[in-house]
Amino acid sequence: MIRENLNLIRQQIREYCVLGKRREDSVLLLAVSKNKPAHDIAEAYRAGQRHFGESYCQEALKKQTELGVYDITWHFIGPIQSNKTKLIAAHFDWVHSVDSLKNAKRLHDQRPAGLPPLNICLQVNISGEGSKSGISLEELPVLCEQVAALARLRLRGVMAIPAPESDLERQRQPYRALCTTVKQLARPELDTFSFGMTGDLKAAVLEGATIVRVGTALFGARTTRSD
Ligand SMILES: *Cc1c(COP(=O)(O)O)cnc(C)c1O
Repeated sequence: MIRENLNLIRQQIREYCVLGKRREDSVLLLAVSKNKPAHDIAEAYRAGQRHFGESYCQEALKKQTELGVYDITWHFIGPIQSNKTKLIAAHFDWVHSVDSLKNAKRLHDQRPAGLPPLNICLQVNISGEGSKSGISLEELPVLCEQVAALARLRLRGVMAIPAPESDLERQRQPYRALCTTVKQLARPELDTFSFGMTGDLKAAVLEGATIVRVGTALFGARTTRSD
């Protein structure tokens, strides 16, 4: 089942790339495995999937231990609690959800010396809802500069989770606005747009996503802590 889902999603991504006149290999599929057991990850791995995203630190570490023999690239995509930055800095290759200088500094200070710089995306709140995490578009330039100065971090780009919309054009609009802002920064190291989940995959690819984070379409609906 997971293998079939994976093939279907890969095929959809290729189709959307063609539609958007993009190279078919320009989008990385990140399999979001939060709330899903290690054996689901193993099944996706056997079908060729290598990048996995987790939202909860303890849950992720447990699965990483179980899957120690697999050559997996781990992405942290959940809200960052300050008391978890040490574990995140030591056990992940990417963090998509950095939205404060404080936590960026902690990740920098706590990144173990033997590991390469931690890949970082800044989470931007592009729908302007007060409750959601993420910095505003206006805050992006300054935080980019501050994070780029931290040597143990490698600033790569931005991540966004827009408010849910069913209409394609309305799904595309916030991504387009964020892309425009990022391009105006004229920082060549910003090569990553972590856009799109199960519900807005097409909009995200059409607007330039380089990483799409897909959970439900790959592993099925989550029954617990489904956020
Ligand atoms: C859970 C989650 C996803 C995956 O969402 P689906 O709708 O299940 O594809 C993507 N990104 C983040 C940040 C998430 O927390």
